[in-house]
Amino acid sequence: MPELSPTPRTTLKRRPQRGSHDLATIEAILDEAFLCHLAWQADGEPCCIPTVYARVGDVLYVHGAAGNRALRALRDGATACLVVTLVDGLVVSRSAFHSSVNYRSVVVYGRAFEVTDASEKQAAFRAIVESVIPKRFADVRPPAPKEIDQTLVLRIALVEASAKLRTGPPIEDEADYARPGWAGVLPLALQAGAPIDDPRLAPGTPAPDYVRHYERPRPELRDGAR
Ligand SMILES: Cc1cc2nc3c(=O)[nH]c(=O)nc-3n(C[C@H](O)[C@H](O)[C@H](O)COP(=O)(O)OP(=O)(O)OC[C@H]3O[C@@H](n4cnc5c(N)ncnc54)[C@H](O)[C@@H]3O)c2cc1C
Repeated sequence: MPELSPTPRTTLKRRPQRGSHDLATIEAILDEAFLCHLAWQADGEPCCIPTVYARVGDVLYVHGAAGNRALRALRDGATACLVVTLVDGLVVSRSAFHSSVNYRSVVVYGRAFEVTDASEKQAAFRAIVESVIPKRFADVRPPAPKEIDQTLVLRIALVEASAKLRTGPPIEDEADYARPGWAGVLPLALQAGAPIDDPRLAPGTPAPDYVRHYERPRPELRDGAR
């Protein structure tokens, strides 16, 4: 699997040893998450909005209502910055200074363009639904033509991106290892609870397996696996 070429924007400065431009690493993080923060500039002001996304090959899709401010600002090729963060644990240090977080994150820069091709837009809808709940699209009413018209879909090519990963225990000042008290890592993970039936659900309708056993794709990139 290739490496993405670092650019001035995607060159890691602090702790670059935690950084990666390895495409497999970047894709694994993008595929485990489904929420991102999408940033852009409007009239010289920074703007940033959380939203869902999907990756299809080397393209990222975001979507929203036709009036969505972020999507309207970006649709004609403006530069976006899309950030994805997975939190794997709290790093409980003996000092305030070295208290930290174990994480895997990706930063993507790219120009965003509106998807106008009907079949690509359909495929993007499907990808976004399945990015949140894999296998769901086959069981939902497909988007009606009017719903498709009311939705803006943008594509951002996955060509300029970086990953950064922190794993492992706290990294203390040597003298602090002698301090009394606990230190270590408290693992954190996104976990689904038990499904809650819609109050208007037809009685006796079971939740599908992909809901009952929901979990995110878990590539071997987390604490303890590297
Ligand atoms: C959950 C979480 C908590 C964090 N908490 C802190 C904190 O409290 N204090 C702190 O200093 N840092 C924190 N970081 C790390 C932070 O994201 C930056 O890596 C850090 O600010 C150093 O940035 P920089 O100045 O080296 O580079 P910048 O100049 O900010 O970034 C240069 C380029 O490096 C790449 N890059 C930098 N950081 C990341 C990243 N996290 N993921 C992917 N690519 C990246 C991007 O392409 C970026 O454009 C945290 C990260 C995460 C995910």
